[in-house]
Formats: sequence, structure tokens, C-alpha cells
Amino acid sequence: MNQKAPASDVQLVSEVRGTVRIRRRGEREWHVAQCSFGDEHDNNQNVTWLRLVNPGRQTTIRIHLKWAEFRHMDLRRIAYVRQGETYGIVRAEAVTPTTSTFDVAVPGGESLFGAFPWYSNADGEQFLERVHTQSSGCTLRSIGTSGDDRPIQCLTIDTEAQGSGGPKGNVVVIGRMHANETCGSWAIEGATDFLLGDEGRDIRDRYVFHLIPIVNPDGAANATKLTRMGPVAQHDMVQGGVTSDDPTIKALRDELYRLQPVALISHHCYLLSVPFLGVFEKQVGLTLLDELVWPHSPRGSAAWMLRFTGPEAKFIRHECFKRFGTTVVFTELPWQGRLPNDIAQMGADILRATMIAHEAKSGRHHY
Ligand SMILES: [Zn+2]
Repeated sequence: MNQKAPASDVQLVSEVRGTVRIRRRGEREWHVAQCSFGDEHDNNQNVTWLRLVNPGRQTTIRIHLKWAEFRHMDLRRIAYVRQGETYGIVRAEAVTPTTSTFDVAVPGGESLFGAFPWYSNADGEQFLERVHTQSSGCTLRSIGTSGDDRPIQCLTIDTEAQGSGGPKGNVVVIGRMHANETCGSWAIEGATDFLLGDEGRDIRDRYVFHLIPIVNPDGAANATKLTRMGPVAQHDMVQGGVTSDDPTIKALRDELYRLQPVALISHHCYLLSVPFLGVFEKQVGLTLLDELVWPHSPRGSAAWMLRFTGPEAKFIRHECFKRFGTTVVFTELPWQGRLPNDIAQMGADILRATMIAHEAKSGRHHY
């Protein structure tokens, strides 16, 4: 044994409890199986985020990732790595009807690997604290507490308007109603940075913005889609939005009824590559496309899918549209090789486009 090359001492540890089963299959080969949370959780976007601990020099390991849900295997070809603050992608070597195989270059020290970048409650708190301390006009508050007593943190940006007169409308931007869809948190980081930068000065002074990077902190703690295990009518923040008495869902509903937002953006994530925009008003959708589609906005995606959505009973976004005339935009921002910075840029672009659509609709033309 001593004559052979030293065995790899790489260790794989799940960063998020209860999401995977890890089994070593060879010297540099692991089998990682995602846990299924039951049909109500959909399981298409289950979280896998592993810490790779390598006490030696850089080496390449093979990870067979067995998904919890097998309906869309053609969309299971990309995984993510993170070293320090830098993210990268890994393309699958092979995809079987259940499993994608990735060869991952593991540097010495610690790095991370997974199906898509993970964003925890601690990441959200860090971001909000940083913005809150660095920028004036920002208030950090909780809109209520979750079933497991976690605060639902909201950053409110309310700068002094220069002689605008009249009360300012509220704009609400939320991520992680489905807590496993992590891109929403980065979209809100991007929207926040946009608002607090030079580009955002105009609209920052005309509205009060409420940004909620993780609206479902219990789901984020357990890496599940819903607020907890149980029926969707009770614990899915979208499907139970108007009727459920789940504490997280009720807290968001009460806050939206109180704020009566003029605009509401809710970020989601699905597996398809093309990003999605959902709206209730045709002209809002057309203005969004005009602002977001390349080449008008070269930072955006080359293509967007747009859906004009009819009435949605029990969905809080449609209730806001119906009750308050809210300009509503909901998204699916897919990973599929996009990096967190790309998603953040999309979050900024979507906020900007939504406000243009809202102001066009309400007859304001100076933005
Ligand atoms: Zn979703």
C-alpha cells in the first residue's frame, strides 16, 4: 500500500442538513443522492451544496449526482463550484435517466460544489446588514415571524423626495416564496444595489421600496420549497397566499394588504433555460420585453418567455392586482450556467423595466 500513490483525502460534507446521502464509491469517486421531500415539494429544484475539503494538492474527483426527480434529465447538464467568492460551472460528463456525472477539479483547501449556488438565511442577513450600515435612507425591519419563529427581514428604502408632493407609492420585491429557488435572493441583491446606486436615484426618490431577499426563512433553513412539510394549500406561499393561516404566508399577506403596493415583483426559478416573465396586463408585458430583450438591453437575456396570466384564485399576487391595481411581475430566472452576478443583473434590469412599465401605465413619463 505504501508503494502506491497516496489516496485522495478529499472529504465531502453536505452544507445543508437533510438534503443528500453521500456514499464513497472509490478513491476519487462519490455517489450523491438527493432526498425527495414528497410530491408537494415538486423536487425539481432540490438543493445540493457540498463542502469539498481537500488537505492535499489539487485533484479531480468524480461525483455521480442522482436527482430526486427525473422528469427533465435533458436539463441536468450543469453544476456549480465555488472557491472563495468565485463561482464557476461544471458540465456533466454523462447523464443517465436518473444521474448526472461531473468531474470536478478540487483545489487544496475548501471549496463548494452543487446543483446550483446555495444562499442561506445567514447570507441574507449579512447582505442586509451590509447595505443597511453602508447606505442612508435604509431601514431594516421584520414584517413578521415564521412558524419556527424566524424573522422575515425586509429592507425598506425611503429617501427624502425633493418636492415631489403627495404620498409615495410602495414597491415590493420578494424572493424565495419557494425557498429552494435561490436565484431570487441574488435578484434582490442586484435590485438593491441598482436602487442605491446612481442609476436608481430617480425612482429611489419617487417610491418607497421594500426588498425581501428571503420571504420564507423556514424553507431556507430546511432547503425545502414550501414553508414546511404538508399540503400545498397550507404551506405553499404561492398557492396558499390568500387563504392559508401559515404564519409566514399570513405575515406576507398582512404586509401586502397594509402597503397596498403600486408594484410587486416576485422572483422564482425553474429548470428551462429561457427566463420567464408573468404579468396580468398586456401592456406591462410588452413594455417589459421592450426594455429587457437584446439588443435594447445588452445586459439581459437574448430571449424571454412572456405569459399573460388570467385570474389566479388564492394567489396573493393576483389579489394585489385585483384589490389595488398593483403592477405585478413574477419571474422564473433559471440557473443553467448563469452565475450569481448574472442573476443579480437580471434582478436590477427587471426592477428598472417594471418601474418603466408601471409609470407608462399610470401616465408618468419622466422616467
Ligand atoms: Zn417558484
